[in-house]
Amino acid sequence: MNADQGPRAAGSTTDVCVVGGGPAGLTLALLLLRSGVRVTLIERATSMSREYRGEILQPGGLALLDQLGVLDPAAARGGYWLDRFQLVERERVLLDIAYDRLPAPYNRLLSVPQRHVLAELLARCRGFDSFRYLDGHRLSALVEEHGAVRGAVAEGRAGTHTVRAGWVVGADGRFSKTRRLAGIGAERQDVFAFDVLWFKLPQEGPPGREVRVFRAAGRPVLVYPSYPGTVQLGWTLPHKGYAEMAALGVDRIRSEITRAVPAYADRVARHLNALTDFTLLDVFAGRAREWVRDGLVLIGDSAHTHSPLGAQGINLALQDAALLHPVLVEALRDGDFSAERLDAYALPRSRDIDQVMKTQTMQAKAMLSQGRVARVVRPRLAGLVQRTPIGPKITRHIALGNPAARVRSDLFVPGRPAGRRTAPAVRVSTGPLLCPRQEPSKERGLHMDLATLPQERLRAGIEQFYARHMQLLDTGRAEDWARTFTEDGTFALPGRPEPSRGRAELAEGASRAHAAQRAAGETHRHWHGMLDITAQDDGTVRVRCYALVVLTPRGGDPRLHRACVCEDVLVDEGGEWKVRAREVTRDGA
Ligand SMILES: Cc1cc2nc3c(=O)[nH]c(=O)nc-3n(C[C@H](O)[C@H](O)[C@H](O)COP(=O)(O)OP(=O)(O)OC[C@H]3O[C@@H](n4cnc5c(N)ncnc54)[C@H](O)[C@@H]3O)c2cc1C
Repeated sequence: MNADQGPRAAGSTTDVCVVGGGPAGLTLALLLLRSGVRVTLIERATSMSREYRGEILQPGGLALLDQLGVLDPAAARGGYWLDRFQLVERERVLLDIAYDRLPAPYNRLLSVPQRHVLAELLARCRGFDSFRYLDGHRLSALVEEHGAVRGAVAEGRAGTHTVRAGWVVGADGRFSKTRRLAGIGAERQDVFAFDVLWFKLPQEGPPGREVRVFRAAGRPVLVYPSYPGTVQLGWTLPHKGYAEMAALGVDRIRSEITRAVPAYADRVARHLNALTDFTLLDVFAGRAREWVRDGLVLIGDSAHTHSPLGAQGINLALQDAALLHPVLVEALRDGDFSAERLDAYALPRSRDIDQVMKTQTMQAKAMLSQGRVARVVRPRLAGLVQRTPIGPKITRHIALGNPAARVRSDLFVPGRPAGRRTAPAVRVSTGPLLCPRQEPSKERGLHMDLATLPQERLRAGIEQFYARHMQLLDTGRAEDWARTFTEDGTFALPGRPEPSRGRAELAEGASRAHAAQRAAGETHRHWHGMLDITAQDDGTVRVRCYALVVLTPRGGDPRLHRACVCEDVLVDEGGEWKVRAREVTRDGA
């Protein structure tokens, strides 16, 4: 930014605007890009080296990353493969869950810095010209029109960027701003709330192959090898118990930790010297009260947050993306931006998440609860899990999550070479309505030469224009629909003394009509056909066509509602078709 200038205000239009470039957001972005959908991603960070985050990947998540071609390169950047999960009480292994009993090849855990995975996902997204990455930008507002979300506003150092989009996806983590701005409440489930004090110690000898929860004296400790060359420890504390502990000083914390994991006493004494060597995590589980609104969907931690116990968060975030992907692609293809359209994702996914939360509560009770009764019951419970079919069943559930979550590569644009622009496979009704012969990013502002334009190209461009134009109308995107008219465009309907004039009036009329249809439980679809297209000497195009309106009442059958003739004058405005004048006559009027 020039020192003399204030912050800039920029704007862009895309199909999907994803807020948050964590595992959920980047995975969904890549899936959509590969399906021919344009994506803008808003991420507040400018680098991948963020605060410590989850590192353990479960087999279900590994399978998805592998299907995306990301697993091997992410692991090659550095990570440790682990085979088992153990609950160790004093010296005794109470529970030993061997992952190698799961079906190969996804029968291991991977401890990998999250940045390795995110960097690989981002690199693949960047291969698409239809991807825009607004890093260093924070979401500051949602664009809302008539109760539906139509885009997002991001604040960066250079200024404000407004992204208009068909769908906004909130993937901005457990303190989601998207969720807050949409006014969606979140319930916090503190039943087994605890805090975790995280710290790393140098690894001595080869890295272990286990994730372990140690229970000796005092509070339980989670331990696993963390790349590069360290051991990650998480010491559990009572919820909000840190302030009291910190007041006692670092020596006291060290001696408590040593009691809990005597095997690490030496390293604790040598390497934990100040409170700044610890990171406190307020652990809670919770979920947003709603996941979908018109034009908006929440995924990953922003929709449901999990305790680190059982290493579920990343797995679930990746699976959210994989399960939402086909539903979103279809909704975009149909130009449907209603919340109900995403029920096919949200309802079954909500049941999955309920199940995971129940399992995690059970795990927390079994592993972390204190007291005499717990001490007596725990070994018996562990024995039961270890010896009966319950153990393998729980392991499969924790390791694989929802087995139906897979990458739907059948929706990908076939044979698309990375980095080269191709026509989107999914035609969505949010973008500019381009005249033929024009590349959106490079040749904006060119005007058509109708004299030399082949007839079939003119027709193809105009048919595409009407397809989007009508889908905007039928999905209630009144403002976007009005923008397909010129600023002073007119629309004359039978029975009206004066035509509607100008975008504001057109948008208001369309919005009212759509609201009335929804209130009456009706769906209206406009079908334009029999296009008779005539290029005029003045550079405009006249189109005379038939327009049918099909009405479907809720729960009923479709019927023909209206048959009309529509006469339009189209003009080319900077490479986009716009309606300058429309006159509609109804049969039977
Ligand atoms: C200490 C810790 C340990 C964990 N251990 C594990 C583990 O071992 N295994 C496991 O599976 N899970 C673990 N988890 C959980 C796991 O990290 C999360 O569940 C997972 O990262 C969720 O992914 P996400 O993409 O939904 O959100 P996040 O990973 O939280 O990503 C959200 C993104 O949104 C960005 N963002 C936030 N606000 C804004 C804004 N206003 N504007 C723009 N961008 C924004 C953030 O910078 C971030 O990049 C752990 C979590 C923590 C905190």
